[in-house]
Amino acid sequence: MNPGYLVLHPLATSHAPPAERLIDSLRELGLVGEQDGDTGGRYRPGNAYLRLITYLGCSPSIPLADNPQEESCHLRLLGPYPAPTLISGSNSRPPRCPHCGHPFTRWQEWLQHGHDSPCHQCGARRQLERLQWREQAAVARLFLLISHVFPGEAVPVERLMHTLHREGGDWRYAYVQQPRRWCAGKGFSML
Ligand SMILES: [Zn+2]
Repeated sequence: MNPGYLVLHPLATSHAPPAERLIDSLRELGLVGEQDGDTGGRYRPGNAYLRLITYLGCSPSIPLADNPQEESCHLRLLGPYPAPTLISGSNSRPPRCPHCGHPFTRWQEWLQHGHDSPCHQCGARRQLERLQWREQAAVARLFLLISHVFPGEAVPVERLMHTLHREGGDWRYAYVQQPRRWCAGKGFSML
């Protein structure tokens, strides 16, 4: 079973870096290996994968060998999307207002039906990309998902962040379990 994904994404939500060039750079670095299966945008880990992603547990079990597709560690590139997009998970907690920190408990209702209301505490208008998701969801136009990472279990090393920065400015990361992509006013689809 896949315990979750490490989700890397550009901080900027106004645009996405060119996907093909990004994959070429990550392949050259050794993070991304061969394409996995017939579905585009899915890759096996490259030969430097374990030098670019640090696992924090004492004996992590990383299924890198040739397991059936769904049971092996893989990377997925999602996007670019025409608008800032939210990927959340079953582990996502209510995001917080960027101005006063008040939790936005009805966020799923807002995203499903488009019923917006200002922050109950400070009155600020809500914007998807400005809410604080605290590494439990991500908003961007392009995402790199790495499977078989339990929340908090693995982090990207500086060298990887440096390469990502060269391709699209600052990047951030989050952890999601059972990821879903939201389409404002229309609900979500499982990924
Ligand atoms: Zn507020």
